[in-house]
Amino acid sequence: MANDDNGMKFTRRDFLGASSGALAIAGVGPVASVAAAQQGAAKTDANYSDRAKSNPGPTNSVLDAQNPSGFNPPSTDAGAVQTFKYPFSFGHKRLHSGGWSREVTQRELAVSKTMAGVDMRLTAGGIRELHWHAAAEWAFMLYGTARITAIDNDGKSFVQDVKESELWYFPTGVPHSIQGLGPDGAEFLLVFDDGNFSEYATVLLSDWMAHTPKDVLAKNFGIPVTALEKLPKEELFIFQSALPGPLEVEQKVAAGARGLSPNDFAFRTMQMPVTKRTKGGEVRIVDSKNFKVATNIAAAIVTVHPGGIRELHWHQNADEWQYYFAGQGRMTVFATGGRARTMDFQTGDVGYVQQTLPHYIENTGDTDLKFLEMFKAPVYQDLSLSEWLTHTPPQLVMAHMHIDKATLNKIPRDEIVIMPE
Ligand code: MN
Ligand code: MN
Repeated sequence: MANDDNGMKFTRRDFLGASSGALAIAGVGPVASVAAAQQGAAKTDANYSDRAKSNPGPTNSVLDAQNPSGFNPPSTDAGAVQTFKYPFSFGHKRLHSGGWSREVTQRELAVSKTMAGVDMRLTAGGIRELHWHAAAEWAFMLYGTARITAIDNDGKSFVQDVKESELWYFPTGVPHSIQGLGPDGAEFLLVFDDGNFSEYATVLLSDWMAHTPKDVLAKNFGIPVTALEKLPKEELFIFQSALPGPLEVEQKVAAGARGLSPNDFAFRTMQMPVTKRTKGGEVRIVDSKNFKVATNIAAAIVTVHPGGIRELHWHQNADEWQYYFAGQGRMTVFATGGRARTMDFQTGDVGYVQQTLPHYIENTGDTDLKFLEMFKAPVYQDLSLSEWLTHTPPQLVMAHMHIDKATLNKIPRDEIVIMPE
């Protein structure tokens, strides 16, 4: 790492130069600086020599390079803050003939108590079998096309096709299925409103049938036992099948005399107007206000352009579960009591912020940073630092921050979401 190289070139003159720079920044003289350093005040990077920061022993240099804020944290980081990052790349890939899945839950990421996620791939024709679960399911299409089916609480059928960037939501206990379509199936992210969710603990049609006496099944359906000879002996979970027929035909046959469900469990994300667009990026907010069935999971779909920042803010009503699906960034979570931690995120990582804790997300790459902010809540809620400070009596704010009126006047009065404005 670069730190080791710098350390090799360490000289006394460099040390003095760095120290005097630090003192100038801190605005304190040589005598006061000793006390300040001992108290941990005025900590700047220059307080730590390159030798102190160096890592001469063994290390995983690939992961260090991906996590510069951990390897060489900003001087504002302090204290113990629970880990809030877990890459899907660390997950176990549960491989089947028709695709695979991997999960990030509270068991992988201890802080993520309210939500969990599953990354799933289905081949063309591959089926995530008919099932339901105790958690509500919100999904985001990452690649390709898929057909989703469900029945609503009145027993009416729902069948739709979804493509990249579109969503779906299945409430607790509503049975559903997902099948990859041509030419190359689909990959999608599933988000559940329970941190302890397990994709191994869902009610599967095949599993249920395999664990019910065949004579009971025959009596239940009013059919001969012999008709059930080929019933799978264990769960299918994900399996390869042929591509389904045309959508309109399947909808009509599934609906029967009852007609199709009036509920739309799918959401065409790109058909909604952007909620907020700035020079720094854009955000789409999807919650029960515009996606009626999503009564317990709210989302913000965020793009931050290179050089942009998702401004300092917090969420009043829920923890935030994040999924980074393009680019790279860093986030600092301020965890009260002088504690703060910065972590870096790459495509495919999960992040987490506990309810009300302040944070920002900065694009650290040269391509767009894209991520999801997910909440176990019916509606999206946040407050930004800028709108708070500009809607508080100015004298009060200036007395806290030691800034002049001209500076305060420059702070945006509206929530910008992504800076620059
Ligand atoms: Mn499901
Ligand atoms: Mn947030």
